[in-house]
Amino acid sequence: MNYKVIVDAGHGGDDPGAVSGNLKEKDFTLEAANYMYNRFRELGVPVAITRDVDKTLTREERLNTMTNTFGNGPEVIILSNHINAGGGEGAEIVYPLRSTDVLAKSILEEIGSEGQIMRKYYQRRLPENPSKDYYYIMRETPNTTSLLIEYGFIDNANDVKKLQNNLLDYVEAVVRAVARYIGVPYVSPGGITEETYTVQKGDSLYSIAQRFNTTVDKLKELNNLTSNNLSIGQVLIISEAKGPEKPSGDYIVHTVKKGDTLYSIAREYETTVDEILKLNNLGTTALSIGQTLKIPQKTQSSLTYTVQKGDSLWKIANNFGVSVDSIIQANNLSGTNLSIGQQLIIPSTTTTPPSTPPEEDTTQLYVVKSGDSLWSIARQFNTTVAEIRRENNLTTDVLQVGQLLRIPGSGGNNDMIYYVKSGDSLWKIANQFGTTVDEIKNKNGLTTNVLQIGQQLIIPN
Ligand SMILES: [Zn+2]
Repeated sequence: MNYKVIVDAGHGGDDPGAVSGNLKEKDFTLEAANYMYNRFRELGVPVAITRDVDKTLTREERLNTMTNTFGNGPEVIILSNHINAGGGEGAEIVYPLRSTDVLAKSILEEIGSEGQIMRKYYQRRLPENPSKDYYYIMRETPNTTSLLIEYGFIDNANDVKKLQNNLLDYVEAVVRAVARYIGVPYVSPGGITEETYTVQKGDSLYSIAQRFNTTVDKLKELNNLTSNNLSIGQVLIISEAKGPEKPSGDYIVHTVKKGDTLYSIAREYETTVDEILKLNNLGTTALSIGQTLKIPQKTQSSLTYTVQKGDSLWKIANNFGVSVDSIIQANNLSGTNLSIGQQLIIPSTTTTPPSTPPEEDTTQLYVVKSGDSLWSIARQFNTTVAEIRRENNLTTDVLQVGQLLRIPGSGGNNDMIYYVKSGDSLWKIANQFGTTVDEIKNKNGLTTNVLQIGQQLIIPN
């Protein structure tokens, strides 16, 4: 087959996607998509991109690029780049009902080989019509191989750190998996070509290992083989061509936005214009929107968060997966009162592993309704008050109506959090996610149809 690739940068313009603090999904997806697009061009794969700058795309515009550039056949591989939200950690791939799991699985494994947690690859069905795909980029892209890639969670402190430092490694992993899948020789960004061998009649792992001066174990590891069986025509990777090691010293990647200057960026990241010029080999201070810049990383491994309207210590702690106490300590706070615009240090959580293994994350989100108590919620979900306290780092048993709780061990984790944006209505959101206004109201204990910008809604699976 003559494969072609469509690279999609999720969201954009008026639609920031998932938001956490001053991080927006649309910035990460743009950075990922631009990089991915350039890499496929370098590999000589026909490729198109849905947007290469920060702009709003209608559903029709997005679909138009996806289905009218190279046609609608399975040889058209659509890679839609996204960042997840709503309680979890790691990467997920969604693939269409019409496709096999081969490419999705291999993409997830490659991202995993770069150090990201592999959550799952799966198909997602439209609730009111389970014969159809949940996401329109699969439902309305006839026979294409359309995949949704979620690199990590924007509201998980560990993932945020990875997205800021390693996102392009994960994108490169996707490029590698796709190149192998479509049979295009993979050349790393450093120019090293991957060596592959096509299995012939009479070959064994042992004979191939001998011929290429390697070992059976190494071949099995490189190719994720669980047995010694080979089939004729199978393509084996003989030697890897991962990118060259990054220069020492971590850095953050910043995508230039409208209004950015080197000076404003330097100030934002507490570094200097000179440092940025040096790290990026820039000969000029002129920037273009969408350009990516490496920003020297401060030595501390914590994040800074600016308090927004409606924030509470509890909410912030929950968002970053840390405890209220650790924030109080890190900032020497004398009370729990916050002021809008206040800068908080969010301590790193890398030393405390999550309480449940992420692959088996079965927590569910629940919005506290009038009359609820920890005890009644625990009973409703067949768990204990202590479990809920632990999962949510609660320091008090007092609940507030509208408060978001993570309920451990209560089933599927397929509910999503949606952040209400300007122009949204319940009807529009229900439509977008293939659910109903009543379902959303029920799930969130809403008594009115009035929404507020920034409000978090649980979208039922
Ligand atoms: Zn998204």
